[in-house]
Amino acid sequence: MIYFDHAATTPPYEDVTKTVAEVMARHYGNPSSLHRLGEESAKLLDKAREVSAAALGVQSREIVFTGGATESNNMAIKGVALQFTERGKHLITTATEHPSVFESVKQLATWGWETTILPVDEDGGVTVEQVREALRPDTVLVSVMHVNNETGTVQPVGEIGRMLKAVAPRVLFHVDGVQGFGKLPLSLADSGIDLYSLSAHKLRGPKGVGLLYVREGLRLAPLLAGGGQEGGYRSGTENIPYIVAFAKALRLAKEGRETRAAKLYGLRERLMHGLAELPELTINSPAQGAPHIVHFSYPGMKAEALLHMLEEEGFFVSTRSACSSKRSEPSRILLAMGKSKEVASSGIRISLGEEHEERDIDALLAALKQCVKRLQVLR
Ligand code: PLP
Repeated sequence: MIYFDHAATTPPYEDVTKTVAEVMARHYGNPSSLHRLGEESAKLLDKAREVSAAALGVQSREIVFTGGATESNNMAIKGVALQFTERGKHLITTATEHPSVFESVKQLATWGWETTILPVDEDGGVTVEQVREALRPDTVLVSVMHVNNETGTVQPVGEIGRMLKAVAPRVLFHVDGVQGFGKLPLSLADSGIDLYSLSAHKLRGPKGVGLLYVREGLRLAPLLAGGGQEGGYRSGTENIPYIVAFAKALRLAKEGRETRAAKLYGLRERLMHGLAELPELTINSPAQGAPHIVHFSYPGMKAEALLHMLEEEGFFVSTRSACSSKRSEPSRILLAMGKSKEVASSGIRISLGEEHEERDIDALLAALKQCVKRLQVLR
């Protein structure tokens, strides 16, 4: 089987699974305990925070470990909204955010916040000007994802952040960096980003662990009340095995970024080229998208049927993002890009990993051609 669903989740590094097992078995002390076992765990936690901060180019005290990016996104958006009600109650985001951002903003709208959902262009992109024009005196937060998880569209988050710092320095800027980290360069230090979410399992780390970067000096309202772990933001005993393994994955993701991106761009190019030769197929990903995601549609063809046929041929792909693939409605992301309902209902996402080779892409293209032919006969 060849796994082409890296945007849904990634196969963990061997070192990651080993680390989880080892730390879980040996360092089970609660990092808040005062005895030696507790201290050992606390040391591991400190070290993991240092390693993670170094991978992001930020300071250790700016890292809050969470239970994944859904939690980080909720923490950032609701934490800002609840903390800064006196500044204003207006939030800006885009139509193609991950549900953990989109639904958080919608939830706040039902609780009395005003929201601007920026429309995207046919490639799924927003512009700096759109964000600037949407700003109001009562805007407290702008949240824009770095890379879209369905199409691979790259948003100009660095430019948006720098614009915000220049014209509206009190407006906070949150970036969901889940699909961008380890693939695209982004310097948190000079891109005006105040809050940045990551998830370990998209970076070959374990599931159920992530982080939120909170720029020094910024305070958010904590969503979880309790023992005050993680700087008071995330009460609850820290998941040391996952956090230590996450830090390793982050370091590897950062260190190998350029080589990985170069390889993935090459593979993506080959895939895009092959797909362009297939009749009736519409490519939904922009030409200048992230290196690991290609999304296309066969209007009129049941994407799920194609997915299962490809599975029988030995390829795991996805119909769209994993969190919405079980829903039968057309993709919200593709509809926002102006695609027809037909196109938005018949999408397939191929997402690449560093272990893939050109022959894997060629094999996928060949299988795809066969499967489509069979489905066309059945239509
Ligand atoms: N943001 C984006 C862009 C994602 O792709 C995902 C994963 O599906 C998430 C957030 C949520 O991450 P997690 O699975 O860690 O909650």
